[in-house]
Amino acid sequence: WCQENFPWSAKLTQMLHDVFGLREFRSLQREVINAALQGRDVLCLLPSGGGKSLCYQLPALVSSGLTLVVSPLLSLIQDQVLSLRALGIDGVCLTSLSSKEDVAAVYGKMDRGELKLLYVTPEKIVSSKRFMSKLEKVHQAGRLDRIAIDEAHCASAWGNDFRPDYKKLGVLKQQFPQVPILALTATATHQVCEDLKTILRIGGCEFFRASVNRPNLFYEVLPKPAGASDATAAIVAWIRKHYPRGESGIVYCLTRKDCETVASELAGGGVSARHYHADMDPGPREAAHATWSSGEVQVMVATVAFGMGINKPDVRFVVHHSLSKSLENYYQESGRAGRDGLPARCLMFYRFSDALRQAAIVCFEPTWQPNLQAMMKYAAAGPSGGTDGSSSCRRAIIQRHFAEAPAECRCMCDNCCIAAGPITSEPHDVGRHALVLLGILRQQQAKEKKATLIQLVDLWRSCKDPGVGKEAKAMSRDENEAVVAAMMYAGLLELEFGHTAYAT
Ligand code: ADP
Repeated sequence: WCQENFPWSAKLTQMLHDVFGLREFRSLQREVINAALQGRDVLCLLPSGGGKSLCYQLPALVSSGLTLVVSPLLSLIQDQVLSLRALGIDGVCLTSLSSKEDVAAVYGKMDRGELKLLYVTPEKIVSSKRFMSKLEKVHQAGRLDRIAIDEAHCASAWGNDFRPDYKKLGVLKQQFPQVPILALTATATHQVCEDLKTILRIGGCEFFRASVNRPNLFYEVLPKPAGASDATAAIVAWIRKHYPRGESGIVYCLTRKDCETVASELAGGGVSARHYHADMDPGPREAAHATWSSGEVQVMVATVAFGMGINKPDVRFVVHHSLSKSLENYYQESGRAGRDGLPARCLMFYRFSDALRQAAIVCFEPTWQPNLQAMMKYAAAGPSGGTDGSSSCRRAIIQRHFAEAPAECRCMCDNCCIAAGPITSEPHDVGRHALVLLGILRQQQAKEKKATLIQLVDLWRSCKDPGVGKEAKAMSRDENEAVVAAMMYAGLLELEFGHTAYAT
Protein backbone atom coordinates (compact mmCIF):
# COMPACT_ATOMS: atom_id res chain seq x y z
CA TRP A 1 0.00 0.00 0.00
CA CYS A 2 2.96 2.34 0.16
CA GLN A 3 3.27 2.50 -3.65
CA GLU A 4 3.35 5.80 -5.42
CA ASN A 5 2.00 4.60 -8.76
CA PHE A 6 -1.72 4.53 -8.05
CA PRO A 7 -3.81 6.62 -10.45
CA TRP A 8 -4.33 9.21 -7.69
CA SER A 9 -0.74 9.35 -6.45
CA ALA A 10 0.36 12.49 -8.27
CA LYS A 11 -2.76 14.34 -7.19
CA LEU A 12 -2.24 13.28 -3.57
CA THR A 13 1.25 14.67 -3.44
CA GLN A 14 0.21 17.86 -5.12
CA MET A 15 -2.67 18.42 -2.67
CA LEU A 16 -0.50 17.53 0.31
CA HIS A 17 1.79 20.40 -0.71
CA ASP A 18 -0.63 22.92 -2.15
CA VAL A 19 -3.70 22.58 0.05
CA PHE A 20 -2.27 21.38 3.36
CA GLY A 21 1.15 22.99 3.03
CA LEU A 22 2.89 19.79 4.18
CA ARG A 23 6.12 18.43 2.76
CA GLU A 24 5.76 14.68 3.13
CA PHE A 25 3.54 11.97 4.57
CA ARG A 26 4.03 10.77 8.09
CA SER A 27 4.33 7.10 8.88
CA LEU A 28 1.41 5.06 7.44
CA GLN A 29 -0.57 8.03 6.14
CA ARG A 30 0.12 7.14 2.52
CA GLU A 31 -0.72 3.47 3.11
CA VAL A 32 -4.02 4.27 4.82
CA ILE A 33 -5.00 6.76 2.12
CA ASN A 34 -4.16 4.38 -0.72
CA ALA A 35 -6.18 1.56 0.82
CA ALA A 36 -9.09 3.92 1.45
CA LEU A 37 -9.02 5.23 -2.12
CA GLN A 38 -8.85 1.68 -3.44
CA GLY A 39 -12.23 1.15 -1.77
CA ARG A 40 -11.12 -1.07 1.08
CA ASP A 41 -12.46 -0.97 4.62
CA VAL A 42 -9.61 0.22 6.81
CA LEU A 43 -8.86 0.17 10.51
CA CYS A 44 -6.03 2.53 11.31
CA LEU A 45 -4.23 2.94 14.59
CA LEU A 46 -2.01 5.97 14.75
CA PRO A 47 -0.80 7.50 18.02
CA SER A 48 -1.97 10.97 19.10
CA GLY A 49 -0.45 13.52 16.81
CA GLY A 50 0.11 10.86 14.13
CA GLY A 51 -2.03 12.80 11.69
CA LYS A 52 -5.24 10.80 11.48
CA SER A 53 -7.35 13.65 10.13
CA LEU A 54 -5.34 13.88 6.94
CA CYS A 55 -6.10 10.19 6.29
CA TYR A 56 -9.73 11.02 5.47
CA GLN A 57 -9.46 14.70 4.52
CA LEU A 58 -7.08 14.10 1.66
CA PRO A 59 -9.08 11.21 0.10
CA ALA A 60 -12.17 13.41 0.39
CA LEU A 61 -10.50 16.10 -1.71
CA VAL A 62 -9.22 13.63 -4.28
CA SER A 63 -12.64 11.97 -4.71
CA SER A 64 -15.62 13.54 -6.40
CA GLY A 65 -18.41 12.58 -3.98
CA LEU A 66 -19.13 12.88 -0.26
CA THR A 67 -17.01 11.73 2.67
CA LEU A 68 -19.06 11.40 5.83
CA VAL A 69 -17.06 11.79 9.05
CA VAL A 70 -18.47 10.54 12.34
CA SER A 71 -16.88 12.18 15.35
CA PRO A 72 -17.88 11.90 19.00
CA LEU A 73 -17.53 15.47 20.23
CA LEU A 74 -18.92 18.81 19.18
CA SER A 75 -15.66 20.51 20.11
CA LEU A 76 -13.64 18.15 17.92
CA ILE A 77 -16.00 18.74 15.00
CA GLN A 78 -15.89 22.50 15.43
CA ASP A 79 -12.08 22.50 15.57
CA GLN A 80 -11.90 20.42 12.42
CA VAL A 81 -14.34 22.54 10.47
CA LEU A 82 -12.51 25.71 11.48
CA SER A 83 -9.11 24.37 10.53
CA LEU A 84 -10.47 23.10 7.19
CA ARG A 85 -11.89 26.53 6.43
CA ALA A 86 -8.53 28.08 7.27
CA LEU A 87 -7.11 25.87 4.48
CA GLY A 88 -9.85 26.99 2.13
CA ILE A 89 -11.73 23.67 2.26
CA ASP A 90 -15.50 23.69 2.64
CA GLY A 91 -16.10 21.31 5.53
CA VAL A 92 -19.58 21.38 7.06
CA CYS A 93 -21.21 19.78 10.06
CA LEU A 94 -24.56 18.69 11.41
CA THR A 95 -24.77 18.62 15.18
CA SER A 96 -27.24 19.30 17.95
CA LEU A 97 -26.13 22.94 17.77
CA SER A 98 -26.99 23.37 14.07
CA SER A 99 -29.86 25.80 13.54
CA LYS A 100 -32.88 24.89 11.40
CA GLU A 101 -31.51 27.07 8.62
CA ASP A 102 -28.09 25.38 8.81
CA VAL A 103 -29.70 21.95 8.64
CA ALA A 104 -31.81 22.96 5.65
CA ALA A 105 -28.73 24.36 3.92
CA VAL A 106 -26.74 21.17 4.49
CA TYR A 107 -29.60 18.98 3.29
CA GLY A 108 -29.93 21.17 0.21
CA LYS A 109 -26.25 20.69 -0.57
CA MET A 110 -26.58 16.94 -0.01
CA ASP A 111 -29.46 16.81 -2.49
CA ARG A 112 -27.54 18.80 -5.07
CA GLY A 113 -24.37 16.75 -4.65
CA GLU A 114 -22.33 19.74 -3.53
CA LEU A 115 -20.79 18.39 -0.33
CA LYS A 116 -17.29 16.96 0.00
CA LEU A 117 -16.80 16.62 3.76
CA LEU A 118 -19.66 16.34 6.20
CA TYR A 119 -19.06 15.89 9.95
CA VAL A 120 -21.77 14.46 12.15
CA THR A 121 -22.08 13.18 15.71
CA PRO A 122 -23.15 9.52 15.96
CA GLU A 123 -26.65 10.32 17.16
CA LYS A 124 -27.48 11.69 13.71
CA ILE A 125 -26.90 8.23 12.31
CA VAL A 126 -28.52 6.36 15.12
CA SER A 127 -31.51 8.63 15.81
CA SER A 128 -32.25 10.84 12.81
CA LYS A 129 -34.37 9.05 10.21
CA ARG A 130 -34.43 12.18 8.13
CA PHE A 131 -30.66 12.36 7.98
CA MET A 132 -30.35 8.70 7.09
CA SER A 133 -32.84 9.03 4.26
CA LYS A 134 -30.88 11.99 2.89
CA LEU A 135 -27.74 9.91 3.08
CA GLU A 136 -29.51 7.06 1.29
CA LYS A 137 -30.33 9.46 -1.53
CA VAL A 138 -26.69 10.53 -1.81
CA HIS A 139 -25.74 6.87 -1.92
CA GLN A 140 -28.31 6.06 -4.62
CA ALA A 141 -26.88 8.86 -6.70
CA GLY A 142 -23.53 7.09 -6.39
CA ARG A 143 -21.99 9.95 -4.45
CA LEU A 144 -21.33 8.45 -1.01
CA ASP A 145 -17.61 7.82 -1.40
CA ARG A 146 -16.67 6.67 2.07
CA ILE A 147 -17.45 6.92 5.76
CA ALA A 148 -14.72 7.83 8.23
CA ILE A 149 -15.28 6.96 11.89
CA ASP A 150 -12.96 9.05 14.03
CA GLU A 151 -12.10 8.01 17.60
CA ALA A 152 -13.50 4.61 16.66
CA HIS A 153 -12.53 3.08 20.01
CA CYS A 154 -15.61 4.81 21.47
CA ALA A 155 -17.59 1.87 20.03
CA SER A 156 -15.91 -0.66 22.29
CA ALA A 157 -16.89 -1.14 25.90
CA TRP A 158 -13.26 -2.24 26.44
CA GLY A 159 -12.00 1.20 25.49
CA ASN A 160 -11.80 4.22 27.75
CA ASP A 161 -14.40 6.41 26.13
CA PHE A 162 -17.28 4.09 25.45
CA ARG A 163 -20.29 5.80 23.85
CA PRO A 164 -23.47 3.77 23.44
CA ASP A 165 -24.36 5.48 20.14
CA TYR A 166 -21.00 4.49 18.66
CA LYS A 167 -21.80 0.86 19.38
CA LYS A 168 -24.72 1.11 16.97
CA LEU A 169 -22.64 2.36 14.04
CA GLY A 170 -22.66 -1.15 12.55
CA VAL A 171 -25.87 0.01 10.85
CA LEU A 172 -23.70 1.96 8.39
CA LYS A 173 -22.23 -1.19 6.90
CA GLN A 174 -25.64 -2.85 7.02
CA GLN A 175 -27.31 -0.05 5.12
CA PHE A 176 -24.41 0.73 2.77
CA PRO A 177 -22.49 -2.53 2.34
CA GLN A 178 -20.53 -1.24 -0.66
CA VAL A 179 -19.37 2.01 0.93
CA PRO A 180 -15.90 1.66 2.41
CA ILE A 181 -15.40 2.49 6.08
CA LEU A 182 -12.26 4.08 7.46
CA ALA A 183 -12.08 3.65 11.24
CA LEU A 184 -9.42 5.64 13.05
CA THR A 185 -8.19 5.53 16.64
CA ALA A 186 -5.15 6.04 18.82
CA THR A 187 -6.09 3.22 21.16
CA ALA A 188 -3.80 0.31 20.64
CA THR A 189 -5.08 -2.77 22.43
CA HIS A 190 -5.71 -5.93 20.48
CA GLN A 191 -8.97 -6.54 22.31
CA VAL A 192 -10.40 -3.14 21.35
CA CYS A 193 -9.38 -3.64 17.69
CA GLU A 194 -11.09 -7.01 17.44
CA ASP A 195 -14.16 -5.57 19.10
CA LEU A 196 -14.25 -2.67 16.65
CA LYS A 197 -14.05 -4.93 13.62
CA THR A 198 -17.08 -6.85 14.86
CA ILE A 199 -19.12 -3.83 15.92
CA LEU A 200 -18.47 -1.87 12.73
CA ARG A 201 -18.82 -5.03 10.58
CA ILE A 202 -15.46 -4.58 8.90
CA GLY A 203 -13.98 -8.01 9.62
CA GLY A 204 -12.11 -8.14 6.30
CA CYS A 205 -10.57 -4.68 6.61
CA GLU A 206 -7.00 -3.63 5.92
CA PHE A 207 -5.36 -3.08 9.28
CA PHE A 208 -2.66 -0.45 9.77
CA ARG A 209 -0.99 0.01 13.06
CA ALA A 210 1.79 2.45 13.82
CA SER A 211 4.27 1.81 16.59
CA VAL A 212 3.14 3.04 19.99
CA ASN A 213 6.62 4.43 20.51
CA ARG A 214 6.76 8.21 20.88
CA PRO A 215 10.47 8.95 20.62
CA ASN A 216 10.09 12.63 21.56
CA LEU A 217 8.52 11.87 24.96
CA PHE A 218 10.69 11.54 28.07
CA TYR A 219 9.06 9.21 30.61
CA GLU A 220 9.79 9.42 34.32
CA VAL A 221 8.35 8.49 37.71
CA LEU A 222 9.07 10.20 41.02
CA PRO A 223 8.09 9.04 44.49
CA LYS A 224 5.15 11.08 45.68
CA PRO A 225 5.63 12.86 48.99
CA ALA A 226 3.19 11.68 51.68
CA GLY A 227 1.52 14.99 52.58
CA ALA A 228 -0.96 16.33 50.02
CA SER A 229 0.55 19.81 49.92
CA ASP A 230 4.09 18.38 49.85
CA ALA A 231 3.07 16.51 46.70
CA THR A 232 1.85 19.71 45.07
CA ALA A 233 4.97 21.56 46.20
CA ALA A 234 7.01 18.88 44.38
CA ILE A 235 4.96 19.46 41.22
CA VAL A 236 5.41 23.24 41.49
CA ALA A 237 9.16 22.85 41.93
CA TRP A 238 9.38 20.48 38.96
CA ILE A 239 7.37 22.76 36.65
CA ARG A 240 9.35 25.84 37.67
CA LYS A 241 12.62 24.00 37.13
CA HIS A 242 11.80 22.52 33.72
CA TYR A 243 9.29 24.98 32.29
CA PRO A 244 10.06 28.42 33.71
CA ARG A 245 8.88 30.20 30.59
CA GLY A 246 5.24 29.23 31.02
CA GLU A 247 5.22 26.35 28.50
CA SER A 248 1.85 24.55 28.47
CA GLY A 249 1.15 21.43 30.46
CA ILE A 250 -1.52 19.23 32.00
CA VAL A 251 -1.64 17.82 35.52
CA TYR A 252 -3.97 14.82 35.82
CA CYS A 253 -5.56 14.14 39.20
CA LEU A 254 -7.66 11.24 40.41
CA THR A 255 -10.62 13.13 41.84
CA ARG A 256 -12.49 16.37 41.23
CA LYS A 257 -11.59 17.55 44.72
CA ASP A 258 -7.88 16.89 44.05
CA CYS A 259 -8.12 19.00 40.87
CA GLU A 260 -9.51 21.99 42.68
CA THR A 261 -7.01 21.80 45.53
CA VAL A 262 -3.99 21.19 43.32
CA ALA A 263 -4.96 24.00 40.90
CA SER A 264 -5.22 26.51 43.71
CA GLU A 265 -1.98 25.32 45.31
CA LEU A 266 -0.16 25.58 41.96
CA ALA A 267 -1.44 29.12 41.62
CA GLY A 268 -0.29 29.80 45.19
CA GLY A 269 3.15 28.51 44.19
CA GLY A 270 3.34 30.92 41.26
CA VAL A 271 2.29 28.56 38.45
CA SER A 272 -0.82 29.79 36.65
CA ALA A 273 -3.42 27.04 36.57
CA ARG A 274 -7.11 26.26 36.09
CA HIS A 275 -9.04 23.14 36.97
CA TYR A 276 -11.33 21.07 34.76
CA HIS A 277 -13.66 18.20 35.62
CA ALA A 278 -17.01 16.74 34.68
CA ASP A 279 -18.83 18.30 37.63
CA MET A 280 -18.36 21.87 36.38
CA ASP A 281 -20.99 23.82 34.49
CA PRO A 282 -20.25 23.94 30.75
CA GLY A 283 -19.60 27.72 30.84
CA PRO A 284 -16.70 27.78 33.34
CA ARG A 285 -15.40 24.50 31.97
CA GLU A 286 -15.12 25.81 28.43
CA ALA A 287 -13.68 29.10 29.72
CA ALA A 288 -10.96 27.14 31.56
CA HIS A 289 -10.23 25.16 28.39
CA ALA A 290 -10.04 28.34 26.30
CA THR A 291 -7.62 30.19 28.62
CA TRP A 292 -5.38 27.15 28.68
CA SER A 293 -5.57 26.53 24.91
CA SER A 294 -4.59 30.12 24.18
CA GLY A 295 -1.58 29.85 26.48
CA GLU A 296 -2.88 32.53 28.84
CA VAL A 297 -2.83 29.94 31.63
CA GLN A 298 0.09 27.52 31.85
CA VAL A 299 -1.38 24.43 33.44
CA MET A 300 -4.70 22.61 33.20
CA VAL A 301 -5.32 20.53 36.32
CA ALA A 302 -7.89 17.97 35.29
CA THR A 303 -9.50 14.61 35.77
CA VAL A 304 -9.49 12.25 32.82
CA ALA A 305 -12.69 14.00 31.71
CA PHE A 306 -10.21 16.35 30.01
CA GLY A 307 -9.25 14.08 27.19
CA MET A 308 -10.54 13.68 23.70
CA GLY A 309 -10.84 16.99 22.02
CA ILE A 310 -7.62 18.50 23.33
CA ASN A 311 -6.17 19.63 20.08
CA LYS A 312 -3.20 21.54 21.42
CA PRO A 313 -0.04 20.45 19.62
CA ASP A 314 2.48 22.22 21.91
CA VAL A 315 1.72 20.60 25.28
CA ARG A 316 5.25 20.30 26.73
CA PHE A 317 4.47 18.19 29.79
CA VAL A 318 1.85 15.89 31.27
CA VAL A 319 2.21 15.27 35.00
CA HIS A 320 0.22 12.56 36.75
CA HIS A 321 -0.50 13.56 40.33
CA SER A 322 -1.81 10.00 40.79
CA LEU A 323 -1.35 6.90 38.68
CA SER A 324 -3.84 6.03 35.91
CA LYS A 325 -6.15 3.03 36.08
CA SER A 326 -4.26 1.14 33.38
CA LEU A 327 -1.18 1.42 31.23
CA GLU A 328 -3.41 2.00 28.18
CA ASN A 329 -4.95 4.97 29.93
CA TYR A 330 -1.55 6.26 30.98
CA TYR A 331 -0.26 5.94 27.43
CA GLN A 332 -3.19 7.93 26.08
CA GLU A 333 -3.20 10.58 28.79
CA SER A 334 0.55 11.15 28.77
CA GLY A 335 0.49 10.99 24.95
CA ARG A 336 -1.25 14.36 24.83
CA ALA A 337 2.21 15.84 25.31
CA GLY A 338 4.38 16.67 22.32
CA ARG A 339 1.94 16.15 19.48
CA ASP A 340 4.03 18.59 17.48
CA GLY A 341 6.90 16.08 17.59
CA LEU A 342 9.13 18.33 19.73
CA PRO A 343 10.58 17.07 23.03
CA ALA A 344 8.09 16.81 25.89
CA ARG A 345 8.01 15.17 29.34
CA CYS A 346 5.63 12.70 30.94
CA LEU A 347 6.03 12.52 34.70
CA MET A 348 4.13 10.35 37.12
CA PHE A 349 4.16 10.81 40.88
CA TYR A 350 3.70 7.41 42.44
CA ARG A 351 2.70 6.23 45.87
CA PHE A 352 1.30 2.84 46.66
CA SER A 353 -1.62 4.33 48.58
CA ASP A 354 -2.74 5.98 45.31
CA ALA A 355 -3.04 2.51 43.76
CA LEU A 356 -5.44 1.65 46.57
CA ARG A 357 -7.46 4.81 46.01
CA GLN A 358 -7.57 4.00 42.31
CA ALA A 359 -8.56 0.38 43.05
CA ALA A 360 -11.49 1.54 45.15
CA ILE A 361 -12.75 3.58 42.18
CA VAL A 362 -12.29 1.06 39.37
CA CYS A 363 -12.96 -2.21 41.19
CA PHE A 364 -16.35 -2.62 39.51
CA GLU A 365 -14.85 -2.62 36.02
CA PRO A 366 -14.30 -6.02 34.39
CA THR A 367 -10.54 -6.21 34.01
CA TRP A 368 -9.49 -3.63 36.55
CA GLN A 369 -7.02 -5.81 38.39
CA PRO A 370 -4.61 -6.80 35.59
CA ASN A 371 -4.99 -3.25 34.26
CA LEU A 372 -3.93 -1.68 37.53
CA GLN A 373 -1.18 -4.25 38.01
CA ALA A 374 0.36 -3.31 34.66
CA MET A 375 0.21 0.36 35.65
CA MET A 376 1.88 -0.35 38.99
CA LYS A 377 4.56 -2.42 37.34
CA TYR A 378 5.40 0.54 35.11
CA ALA A 379 5.43 2.92 38.07
CA ALA A 380 7.52 0.69 40.30
CA ALA A 381 10.21 -0.32 37.78
CA GLY A 382 13.52 0.95 39.10
CA PRO A 383 16.81 1.43 37.26
CA SER A 384 17.78 -2.16 37.98
CA GLY A 385 14.55 -3.49 36.46
CA GLY A 386 11.21 -4.75 37.73
CA THR A 387 10.98 -7.09 40.73
CA ASP A 388 10.34 -9.97 38.33
CA GLY A 389 13.52 -9.34 36.38
CA SER A 390 11.73 -7.43 33.62
CA SER A 391 13.19 -4.50 31.76
CA SER A 392 13.65 -1.19 33.50
CA CYS A 393 13.14 0.99 30.43
CA ARG A 394 9.74 2.65 30.70
CA ARG A 395 9.43 2.92 26.93
CA ALA A 396 10.10 -0.83 26.66
CA ILE A 397 7.49 -1.56 29.34
CA ILE A 398 4.89 0.37 27.33
CA GLN A 399 5.86 -1.20 24.01
CA ARG A 400 5.87 -4.75 25.39
CA HIS A 401 2.48 -4.13 26.93
CA PHE A 402 1.18 -3.43 23.44
CA ALA A 403 2.95 -6.55 22.12
CA GLU A 404 5.59 -4.55 20.29
CA ALA A 405 9.33 -5.08 20.21
CA PRO A 406 11.01 -2.27 22.17
CA ALA A 407 12.74 0.50 20.26
CA GLU A 408 15.95 2.08 21.40
CA CYS A 409 15.19 4.53 24.22
CA ARG A 410 18.15 6.85 23.63
CA CYS A 411 18.15 7.91 27.29
CA MET A 412 14.59 9.19 26.97
CA CYS A 413 13.33 7.71 30.25
CA ASP A 414 14.54 8.18 33.82
CA ASN A 415 15.68 4.58 34.22
CA CYS A 416 17.74 4.51 31.02
CA CYS A 417 19.25 7.84 32.06
CA ILE A 418 20.14 6.62 35.54
CA ALA A 419 21.23 3.21 34.31
CA ALA A 420 24.00 5.03 32.49
CA GLY A 421 25.39 5.97 35.95
CA PRO A 422 25.98 3.92 39.13
CA ILE A 423 23.01 2.27 40.84
CA THR A 424 22.87 3.44 44.42
CA SER A 425 20.00 1.65 46.16
CA GLU A 426 20.04 -2.12 46.75
CA PRO A 427 16.81 -3.89 45.87
CA HIS A 428 14.92 -5.15 48.94
CA ASP A 429 14.57 -8.81 49.66
CA VAL A 430 10.91 -8.74 48.70
CA GLY A 431 10.58 -12.51 48.51
CA ARG A 432 11.38 -13.10 52.18
CA HIS A 433 8.98 -10.38 53.34
CA ALA A 434 6.31 -11.72 51.00
CA LEU A 435 6.46 -15.13 52.69
CA VAL A 436 5.96 -13.48 56.07
CA LEU A 437 2.97 -11.52 54.76
CA LEU A 438 1.40 -14.56 53.16
CA GLY A 439 1.76 -16.29 56.56
CA ILE A 440 -0.08 -13.41 58.22
CA LEU A 441 -2.87 -13.59 55.63
CA ARG A 442 -3.22 -17.36 56.09
CA GLN A 443 -3.60 -16.85 59.84
CA GLN A 444 -6.36 -14.36 59.11
CA GLN A 445 -8.03 -16.76 56.74
CA ALA A 446 -7.87 -19.53 59.36
CA LYS A 447 -9.86 -17.17 61.56
CA GLU A 448 -12.16 -16.58 58.56
CA LYS A 449 -11.11 -12.95 58.50
CA LYS A 450 -10.03 -10.87 55.55
CA ALA A 451 -7.83 -7.81 55.57
CA THR A 452 -7.60 -4.67 53.55
CA LEU A 453 -4.14 -3.91 52.18
CA ILE A 454 -3.70 -1.11 54.68
CA GLN A 455 -4.71 -3.51 57.49
CA LEU A 456 -2.21 -6.00 56.14
CA VAL A 457 0.56 -3.48 56.59
CA ASP A 458 -0.76 -2.73 60.10
CA LEU A 459 -0.85 -6.42 60.98
CA TRP A 460 2.71 -6.80 59.77
CA ARG A 461 4.01 -3.85 61.75
CA SER A 462 2.20 -4.93 64.92
CA CYS A 463 3.05 -8.63 64.60
CA LYS A 464 3.89 -10.11 68.01
CA ASP A 465 6.13 -12.77 66.47
CA PRO A 466 9.62 -11.87 67.71
CA GLY A 467 11.57 -10.32 64.93
CA VAL A 468 8.77 -10.00 62.38
CA GLY A 469 7.07 -6.85 63.67
CA LYS A 470 10.40 -5.37 64.62
CA GLU A 471 11.80 -5.93 61.16
CA ALA A 472 8.67 -4.43 59.58
CA LYS A 473 9.01 -1.33 61.73
CA ALA A 474 12.69 -1.03 60.91
CA MET A 475 11.47 -0.14 57.40
CA SER A 476 9.44 2.95 56.64
CA ARG A 477 5.72 2.53 56.06
CA ASP A 478 6.38 3.44 52.42
CA GLU A 479 8.76 0.52 52.16
CA ASN A 480 6.20 -1.80 53.79
CA GLU A 481 3.63 -0.67 51.25
CA ALA A 482 6.10 -1.18 48.41
CA VAL A 483 6.42 -4.84 49.44
CA VAL A 484 2.63 -5.27 49.43
CA ALA A 485 2.51 -3.55 46.04
CA ALA A 486 5.17 -5.89 44.65
CA MET A 487 3.14 -8.86 45.91
CA MET A 488 0.05 -7.48 44.28
CA TYR A 489 1.53 -7.14 40.83
CA ALA A 490 3.32 -10.45 41.14
CA GLY A 491 -0.17 -11.95 41.49
CA LEU A 492 0.37 -13.20 45.07
CA LEU A 493 -2.63 -11.31 46.39
CA GLU A 494 -6.19 -11.29 45.19
CA LEU A 495 -8.28 -8.24 45.81
CA GLU A 496 -12.01 -8.14 46.32
CA PHE A 497 -13.70 -4.90 45.44
CA GLY A 498 -10.41 -3.10 45.65
CA HIS A 499 -10.03 -3.43 49.39
CA THR A 500 -9.72 -6.93 50.69
CA ALA A 501 -6.62 -9.00 50.22
CA TYR A 502 -6.31 -12.72 50.45
CA ALA A 503 -3.47 -15.02 49.59
CA THR A 504 -3.70 -16.94 46.31
P1 ADP B 1 -4.30 12.88 15.45
O1 ADP B 1 -5.77 13.07 15.16
O2 ADP B 1 -3.74 11.63 14.88
O3 ADP B 1 -3.95 13.06 16.90
P2 ADP B 1 -4.04 15.24 13.83
O4 ADP B 1 -4.72 14.76 12.62
O5 ADP B 1 -4.78 16.20 14.71
O6 ADP B 1 -3.53 14.03 14.71
O7 ADP B 1 -2.64 15.87 13.42
C1 ADP B 1 -1.74 16.32 14.42
C2 ADP B 1 -0.87 17.42 13.86
O8 ADP B 1 0.04 16.91 12.89
C3 ADP B 1 -1.67 18.50 13.15
O9 ADP B 1 -1.16 19.74 13.55
C4 ADP B 1 -1.44 18.23 11.67
O10 ADP B 1 -1.50 19.39 10.89
C5 ADP B 1 -0.02 17.66 11.68
N1 ADP B 1 0.25 16.77 10.54
C6 ADP B 1 -0.55 15.80 10.04
N2 ADP B 1 0.05 15.17 9.01
C7 ADP B 1 1.26 15.75 8.84
C8 ADP B 1 2.36 15.56 7.92
N3 ADP B 1 2.32 14.62 6.99
N4 ADP B 1 3.43 16.36 8.06
C9 ADP B 1 3.48 17.31 9.03
N5 ADP B 1 2.49 17.55 9.90
C10 ADP B 1 1.39 16.78 9.82
